[in-house]
Amino acid sequence: MGRVYNFSAGPAVLPEEVLKEAAGEMLDYGGSGMSVMEMSHRSKVFETIINEAEQDLRDLMNIPDDYSVLFLQGGASQQFAMIPMNLMKNRVADFIITGQWAKKAYQEAQIYGKANAIASSADKTFTYIPDCSDLPISNDADYVYICENNTIYGTKFKKLPNTKGKLLVADISSCFLSEPVDVTKYGLIFGGAQKNVGPAGVVIVIIRKDLITEDTLPGTPTMLKYKIHDDHKSLYNTPPAYGIYICGKVFKRLKKLGGLKVMKEINEKKAAILYDFLDQSKLFRGTVVKEDRSFMNVPFVTGNEELDVRFVKEAKAAGLENLKGHRTVGGMRASIYNAMPMEGVEKLVEFMKKFEEDNTK
Ligand SMILES: *Cc1c(COP(=O)(O)O)cnc(C)c1O
Repeated sequence: MGRVYNFSAGPAVLPEEVLKEAAGEMLDYGGSGMSVMEMSHRSKVFETIINEAEQDLRDLMNIPDDYSVLFLQGGASQQFAMIPMNLMKNRVADFIITGQWAKKAYQEAQIYGKANAIASSADKTFTYIPDCSDLPISNDADYVYICENNTIYGTKFKKLPNTKGKLLVADISSCFLSEPVDVTKYGLIFGGAQKNVGPAGVVIVIIRKDLITEDTLPGTPTMLKYKIHDDHKSLYNTPPAYGIYICGKVFKRLKKLGGLKVMKEINEKKAAILYDFLDQSKLFRGTVVKEDRSFMNVPFVTGNEELDVRFVKEAKAAGLENLKGHRTVGGMRASIYNAMPMEGVEKLVEFMKKFEEDNTK
């Protein structure tokens, strides 16, 4: 059996060239006589891998020198605790609740201080992004927190909130490297690699250097201090070495393709194929308000649960996998990350058209 079109939200599709290259290097990386999985993270060979990965990411995202790039573990979820432990100096932070991931970060922060939900789209099951132009930002807030692309609900902040001068912290797990980013607008950006970047096990944190201090909350474990990882250039302990190597290959590929501006154009075109179909379909409809639609995660429904289940099943049989919506939402969701070829979305829409014809007679 060949490869399928994998619409999983994460772990998600990786570029086939990257997988092939890694396969070719599996037994002997660059003449080292061993796999990257087998080599010391203190070796010259691995040092080059991680340094190049960092530099390529800096080039791609145009990351200024006063920001550090950290390759960590514990997934995006560990950042929900690590961020307050390191940044909640006044023990106050404001959260914009646009879905489950933002809510989890908000709940975790409550362990460490006063977390305020200053806006939410829970009233309409997170199908939109609230107006964030004039929010009641707390005077003593250490930061304002957002989940920039909501993987489960398929919404995206097209405009960053007005934080009234407070630090902005963003979870960009599911929109990482999907478009150009102005890093200077944020104090800290983070994302798990397994959505749009690489394999599970790596989380990337981009943090302004002045925010990296010894001054963490009492009881913060050594491993959860940004400073320790920054001082050791992400090599304080054994990093997720193989994952970083694959991320590095993805960065090189994106650079070769023309960088994030080109990725944005491709992603917009790719998403438009699906959204344009949804907007005129007699059977399917997208669940998100138009202005706030994500280009990465596209939830949709038929309005009939039985039909949804059958769609997912028949799509799978046609080589279109993992289209089932998140277990808390139902319906369908197509995650169309950077590595999903245009052809995959075209095949999906073709299949949807046929399914619609067969089921609207
Ligand atoms: C998947 C996801 C997470 C959780 O990531 P883990 O690596 O499993 O902890 C957090 N935030 C967003 C936006 C996600 O998509």
